[in-house]
Amino acid sequence: MELIKEIMDRAEGLTGELIRLRREFHQYPELSHEEERTAGVVARYLQDLGLEVKTGLADHGVVGTFAGSRPGKTVAWRADMDALPLEEKAAVPWRSKVPGVMHACGHDFHLSVGLAAARLLSGMKDRLAGRFRFIFQPAEEGPPRGDKSGAQGMVAAGVLADPPVDAILALHVAPNLDVGYIRHSPEVVMAGADRVELAITGKAAHGATPHRGVDPILVSAQALTQIQSFLAQRIDARHPVILTFGRIAGGNRFNILAERVELEGSFRYLQESVRQDVEQGLKGLMRGLAQGSGAKIALHFHSTYPLLKNDSQLSARAAEVLARILGKNHLKLHQPAMGSEDFSYYAARVPAFYFFLGVRPPGGKVQSLHSPEFDPDEAGLTWGLKAAAGLLATLSEP
Ligand SMILES: [Zn+2]
Ligand SMILES: [Zn+2]
Repeated sequence: MELIKEIMDRAEGLTGELIRLRREFHQYPELSHEEERTAGVVARYLQDLGLEVKTGLADHGVVGTFAGSRPGKTVAWRADMDALPLEEKAAVPWRSKVPGVMHACGHDFHLSVGLAAARLLSGMKDRLAGRFRFIFQPAEEGPPRGDKSGAQGMVAAGVLADPPVDAILALHVAPNLDVGYIRHSPEVVMAGADRVELAITGKAAHGATPHRGVDPILVSAQALTQIQSFLAQRIDARHPVILTFGRIAGGNRFNILAERVELEGSFRYLQESVRQDVEQGLKGLMRGLAQGSGAKIALHFHSTYPLLKNDSQLSARAAEVLARILGKNHLKLHQPAMGSEDFSYYAARVPAFYFFLGVRPPGGKVQSLHSPEFDPDEAGLTWGLKAAAGLLATLSEP
């Protein structure tokens, strides 16, 4: 296909620019909600390209839009901008200059690919149909408690409207996939995640007279085994679910029964109906335990990320384009992962396609995401740009 060929040639020509951008972002990482400098670089870059730019969305979000020369669909590309509170260990020349902060999730790659795609496509707009929107989103990494994620804020700021976005796409770097490869899923990509609160209120008493009180520590032990038994044997084993408790607190002194125990956990699922079954089932189970034990038990599920699902039609079209760009054998199928990602807030509203970009040097090794030694292969950048620009340019056709 002629258009794809031209995009691939132009992408090769932008390799130096991709690396320059990536290294600059890598040296000046910023934490979630603090991406002021990054947003400034992004906004100036998009303005210089002649895009219509909006800034200050959901704190530091930036959006740039331009139109092709023919009518068509509005397609959006999302890049996240935040880094992590880690001290970089890799001894690379472009090492982070900010103590204790590092782009250890590859969002510097995402930024670089997003900007270069805006440059590539806006430089050939007379050949393109539709509209192109580039969304640079803050605060993808786990928002603090009670806080909204960057994607939620960007959606609320209207980035999917005016004109309405017909499809949204994004990539994430994958350290366990070779450069030149892409992994994609026709449907579920990542788990939905809830924060779970379990509070057990008993009745304090002397440790020598437990019959005069209600011991919430003992009840919490029963609750935990009942919960895990329910998940193992009351949920169809073909539907993955995980509920892990990462925090438990209660009691003051060894010889006084605690008044109250609080637990906090993370629940993850790959199917909405299973989520409902688990919430209802566990609430019923806890009502029974409360009755039997005499404790008061409150169980709450708070959604932190919806399920991330690709649109199946859009995925099928995207897979064809990616196969042309990479070669069919370099396109791999992604198995749904139990991690989560706030791109799901966009995907819950408009057809979406999220995929994984290989950044492992062939025959080499890259540490995992969120590792202080994470050092992805920059050769992956050009493939990311080819994929992003190739997908946007074809999916915007009427
Ligand atoms: Zn991350
Ligand atoms: Zn990430």
